[in-house]
Amino acid sequence: MGRRWREVAAIAVAVTFAAVSVVAVGKRVRKRREWGRVEGIMRELEKECETDVGRLRQVADALAVEMNAGLASEGGSKLKMLLTHVDRLPDGSEKGIYYALDLGGTNFRVLQIRLGGQRSSILTHDVERQPIPRHLMTSTSEELFDFVAAALKTFVENKENADGDVPGSGRELGFTFSFPVKQASVSSGILIRWTKGFAIEDMVGKDVSESLQLALQRKGLDMRIVALVNDSVGTLALGYYHDPDTVAAVIFGTGTNACYIERREAIIKCQGLNTSFGSMVVNLEWGSFWSSHLPRTLYDIELDLDSPNPTEQGFEKMISGMYLGEIARRVILRMAQQSDFLGVVPSKLSTPFILRTPMMAAMHEDESQSLSEVDRILTEILEVPEVHPRIRKLVMKVCDIITRRAARLAAAGIVGILKKIGREGERPLGSRSRPDTTMRRTVVAVEGGLYVSYTTFREYLHEALEEILGEDIVRHVVLQVTEDGSGIGAALVAAAHSSTSVHTQ
Ligand code: ADP
Ligand code: MG
Repeated sequence: MGRRWREVAAIAVAVTFAAVSVVAVGKRVRKRREWGRVEGIMRELEKECETDVGRLRQVADALAVEMNAGLASEGGSKLKMLLTHVDRLPDGSEKGIYYALDLGGTNFRVLQIRLGGQRSSILTHDVERQPIPRHLMTSTSEELFDFVAAALKTFVENKENADGDVPGSGRELGFTFSFPVKQASVSSGILIRWTKGFAIEDMVGKDVSESLQLALQRKGLDMRIVALVNDSVGTLALGYYHDPDTVAAVIFGTGTNACYIERREAIIKCQGLNTSFGSMVVNLEWGSFWSSHLPRTLYDIELDLDSPNPTEQGFEKMISGMYLGEIARRVILRMAQQSDFLGVVPSKLSTPFILRTPMMAAMHEDESQSLSEVDRILTEILEVPEVHPRIRKLVMKVCDIITRRAARLAAAGIVGILKKIGREGERPLGSRSRPDTTMRRTVVAVEGGLYVSYTTFREYLHEALEEILGEDIVRHVVLQVTEDGSGIGAALVAAAHSSTSVHTQ
């Protein structure tokens, strides 16, 4: 090769290198820009989910105000403040064998308890859990109730055969049905509407107990429904049975709800209520609580619009286990759509409800150095082809923001109830005493997989409770987990109302 050709070749190589490095720099700049976009989405999310203590106090105040409005008149608030007609909580004097059926979320349970006639003397309890087949959630009421009645029958027969109990008459059941029900008595009520993904149109407006009673008859199971309660009421009953300082109960599971013990005079919408006692358990149905103080994002708005019950259950859609994973999925999807940080948007990421809250919790609580669990879930469930360590951290942060907001709002809800019943430490009017000397021990029974199994959710909730109430007051507030409380509690309510089960207003 002559000298001139060597020079030409050298120039050509140099030009190629220059072109390659321009492309590389261009790629890097684009990547940085894309990443900047993702971080922008994250910053926006963080800002919109802000729940400083001032805002939490406003939420708590708003809930207390709505509780008053819901008690004052029918339809006076988004909070239904449903009368449960449970005016007697189990005090320990109950004796005998009672059954319960707990339906209202992801699983249903059938159980039996044996009561010994003293406080905290549940001699035995046996539970059987089964997932509710998804297709039954949108089938017909007959199919759904036939299914649970069959499960109950098998359970009862197995128990009686095993224990040598005399089968036949006298069986009594507490039915936990965790959807909004308008009750006319402790043992009956009409379904107002479905929540949590259930949609069986022929059931709305029908008597829930009657539908179950008919299914029991079809199966030839002789059993009387003595109490119809929702999960929060069951949880309160079990909490109270163990500890009479229990004043309220909250559920953080597939859905969220709360109930509390209210003085009869305060239930203005039902003056002259025929109750044998001075108080009654009121079911807030706080899933439908709404206030302009709640920090709502684009993702919440879109989730709501795409749900089968838009504009309903606003509080529940920000807090409960059914929705947290789905909110996180929507955030990650938006990040993927607005940048190429995951490459081509994986089709699985566009599938609603594919990221379930337990998976979100597993990613959030991944303590491995390489965040291998985050990697596994993103690759296996969302089918993301390659998960860079930076992306793993980012996804973890998304989970954190959403769960933190949920847990803090949940804490504000609890404080709202305490405020309503004067247990949040505010100095009574005209009193000069320090709040902590007037504060009584206050127990709130808690149940639900989200609270029990998602440690970070629970810790954030406790932290916020302390922030809102302050150290002096929070020492007097006990959150007591009652395992299987919603079901056992229903059996206890059945026991407490066993001889005089009909209390019409
Ligand atoms: P249900 O509300 O159906 O009666 P649970 O109280 O057992 O049932 O709550 C189940 C719900 O709790 C699940 O749907 C899920 O959203 C949530 N959950 C269960 N386990 C976990 C977990 N490990 N992490 C986060 N959430 C969980
Ligand atoms: Mg439950």
